[in-house]
Amino acid sequence: MEHLIEDIEYAEFLFDRFYSVGSTKSGGVTRLGYTKEEDEMHRIFKELGAAKGYESYEDEVGNTFIMNEYSGEEEYHLIGSHLDSVIDGGRYDGVCGIITGLLLLEWAKRDGLKIPVRVGAMRCEESSNFGRSTIGSGLITKEVYKHDIGEAVNKDGVTLREIFKERGYHIHPQKISGVKEYIELHIEQGKVLEEYGDKVGIVQTIAGPRRYQIHVHGTAEHSGATPMDMRNDALCAAAEIILEIEEIGKEESKHQSVATVGIINNYPNALNVIPGEVLLGVDMRGIDFDSLERMETRLKTICKRVCQKRKIKYFREKTSDIPPINMSPDLQQKLLKAAKNLRIPHRTMISGAGHDAMSFASLCDTAMVFIPCAKGISHNKKEFATIESICDGAKVIYEYWKEEMQ
Ligand SMILES: [Zn+2]
Repeated sequence: MEHLIEDIEYAEFLFDRFYSVGSTKSGGVTRLGYTKEEDEMHRIFKELGAAKGYESYEDEVGNTFIMNEYSGEEEYHLIGSHLDSVIDGGRYDGVCGIITGLLLLEWAKRDGLKIPVRVGAMRCEESSNFGRSTIGSGLITKEVYKHDIGEAVNKDGVTLREIFKERGYHIHPQKISGVKEYIELHIEQGKVLEEYGDKVGIVQTIAGPRRYQIHVHGTAEHSGATPMDMRNDALCAAAEIILEIEEIGKEESKHQSVATVGIINNYPNALNVIPGEVLLGVDMRGIDFDSLERMETRLKTICKRVCQKRKIKYFREKTSDIPPINMSPDLQQKLLKAAKNLRIPHRTMISGAGHDAMSFASLCDTAMVFIPCAKGISHNKKEFATIESICDGAKVIYEYWKEEMQ
């Protein structure tokens, strides 16, 4: 759809303000959660709000909120996403949702729409720093993290507890209150919208990630002096496990499940040493609980079978187990209707990736609006979405608000 030049210009201006933070030599950005790069993103966010006369505040875990004048006492509409990135990631993941929030505030003000709105930038959504995702939103909603995650360590080996202490944050914050509904606009991070030529996707379910670490313990020995039949090669065992996990994913793909080994750490990783220890990071996702259960059971069987056969010790650790999370059916219908009114080509879809919206789903009505990203590429410097797409998605949310306020 056509957008006003001033809207495109404002969205572009917002995008440009964040653009250079954490830039890497390769052309991407690194803005890890709870680092100075993420701090800088939040500082700019606050500044952008202040420039329009909005008040802002930081909560007990460092999430930043900008609020309009109607959102003081009343239950408010929360537009959220995140400002951190993966290592050498793109500039659209998360940021598009924050730009959307600022656009919506602007439009509501322009039209005199008296709707209570807050825009929330959640901390540390990506798991790249602490191996845990949605930390900011998970802590304040008390959903994702019911147990204490203070011992999670960052890339430099510092615990979250220490970092929180240093920054004056609380690892057990008060539960967020007053949220009427949470809506997050995000790039799709897949190719579905592009393939179908749709401009907007309304999410039905967010696939639940189950994550595991598998520690495989063989024996590190001289690669020249140890005969082939006397070895306990941890990497060879890991290789078998990896391929079996791929098979699990393929078989369960009919239920829209996926299985990936995304991490492999090999020790000592030397040319003349038989690998003695391997750590595998496994990520399984799906929207079907039974399928997830089957994948987990098979993972256990495979580890046991391969390691027994090769006389290798192992242990398995579950690092995350988030069930598939449904978005509010009511809100989905309202957003679909809004897209239809605006004649923006749209579809309903599932989200394979996790988002801050998962944290809010049991607290309030929650929805996600996806916009296309070029070739489905994300978590990569080549990530790209257009300013027009951001405006399309934002317009759908705004149209729904206008209907609501009538
Ligand atoms: Zn994201």
